[in-house]
Amino acid sequence: MTIAETTVFEALESNVRGYCRSWPAVFDTARGAWLTDENGKEYLDFFAGAGALNYGHNNPVLKQSLIDYLLADGITHGLDMSTTAKRRLLESIRDLLLTPRGLDYKVQFPGPTGANAVEAALKLARKVTGRTTVLNFTNAFHGMTLGALSVTGNAAKRAGAGVPLVHAHPMPFDGYLEEAEDFSWMRRALDDNSSGLDKPAAVIVETVQGEGGVNVARAEWLRQLAELCSDRGILLIVDDVQMGCGRTGPFFSFEVAGIIPDIITLSKSIGGYGLPMALVLMRPELDQWAPGEHNGTFRGNNAAFVTAEAALRHYWSDGRLEASTVAKGERIRQHLLGITEGFQGISTRGRGLVQGLVFDDASQAAKVCRMAFEDGLLVETSGTADQVVKLMPPLTITDDEITTGLGILTRAVEVVRDAH
Ligand code: PMP
Repeated sequence: MTIAETTVFEALESNVRGYCRSWPAVFDTARGAWLTDENGKEYLDFFAGAGALNYGHNNPVLKQSLIDYLLADGITHGLDMSTTAKRRLLESIRDLLLTPRGLDYKVQFPGPTGANAVEAALKLARKVTGRTTVLNFTNAFHGMTLGALSVTGNAAKRAGAGVPLVHAHPMPFDGYLEEAEDFSWMRRALDDNSSGLDKPAAVIVETVQGEGGVNVARAEWLRQLAELCSDRGILLIVDDVQMGCGRTGPFFSFEVAGIIPDIITLSKSIGGYGLPMALVLMRPELDQWAPGEHNGTFRGNNAAFVTAEAALRHYWSDGRLEASTVAKGERIRQHLLGITEGFQGISTRGRGLVQGLVFDDASQAAKVCRMAFEDGLLVETSGTADQVVKLMPPLTITDDEITTGLGILTRAVEVVRDAH
C-alpha cells in the first residue's frame, strides 16, 4: 500500500478532524458510488457523505444542470432574495413532493446545515407554543450547535458544549426498554402534574436513528407518538436530515407510518449534489416567524437550489427510485442476515438503504471497517460504542456494485470472526 502524503493535514489542520483518520487516503476524484485517491486506488462508497450523496458523486444529470446554470451566470449567492432558481425549486417542492402526498407545508430556508434546520425548528416550536421544554429520545443525534446538542444523546458530544444543556428531556426510543409497554412512561409523565415534567413545546424524533446506531422505530410506535403529541397539543418534529430524501425508500422517512409531522427538517441530500442546503417544513398555521427572525448569510445557496430541483424532477416524478431503494435494501438485509447466521454476537437491523451490522463486541465493528477500507470499501461505524457498521450507499448504486461491496464486507467480517 502506498503511504498517503498527509504532512500538511497533520501539521496544519485542527485535531478535530475525524474521517481522515479512519480513511487515511487523499481523495482526488469521485463518480457515482466510487472515489479515487491520488494514487489511483478506487474505493466503493457505502457511506455516501453521511447521507448527503443519495444520488451519488458528481451525478451526471445534476452536474449538467449545475454547469448550465453556472455558464449562464445564474445567481450563486442570494441570501433570501427571490431568484428564478428558488422559484423553480419551490414549484417543484409543491408539485412533486407536497401535492402528490396531500401535504400542506410552508417552506423555510435556514442556514444550510442540518443543525441549523434543527435550531430553527426548536425555536419555532417554542415561539408558537410559548413553552420551553422539548422531548427528545435516547440515542438521538440532531447536530452540534447548542440547541441541537441539547436534544442529542451522546455524552461525549454533549460534553463538548462546555455549558449546561437545558430545556430538553429524554424519553426512551422504540426498543430502548425491552420490557416496557410503548410510551408508558411518557404518557404517565405528561398526564401527571406531579411528574416534574413541564408541558413540552415539542417532541423531536428520527424515524431511524442513523448516528445513534441504526435504531429503527416501528411504524406503529411512530403512530402512537404522533397520536400522543396531537392529543396533548405537543408539536411533533421529525428530523429527516439523514433519513429523508429517499434513504429508507419513500422521500420522507415517516411516510411508512402514515403520520403527518407538524415540522420537518431536511438537509444533507436535499441539495442533491452534496451542495449545502437545508429546509424546515412547517404546517402553515405554525409559520409565525417575524421577517428575518431566524436569518443567516448562506440561506440562498442557489447552486444547491438548481441541483435540488433537478434531483426532485429526475428522481421523484415517479416511484422508481423508491421501489429500487426498497428492493436493494432488502437484498442487503438478506445478505447481512446470512452473515449473522455464521457469526455469534452479531445481528442486523435497518430500513431501505440504511442497514446496520451490530456487534456485541464493538472492537470488531472497528476492525471490520478498517479491513474494508484496506480492501477498497468505505463504511463507517455508528452507535453509542461505535458498535454498529452502518451501510449507507448512494441510492443510485448498481446491483453489481452492491455485490462488490458486500463481498468486501463479508471477507472483512470473516477475517475478524476467524481471529477470535
Ligand atoms: N440531524 C440528523 C438526524 C443528523 O443525522 C445530522 C447529521 N449527522 C444532523 C441533524 C446535523 O446535520 P449537520 O451535520 O449538517 O449539522
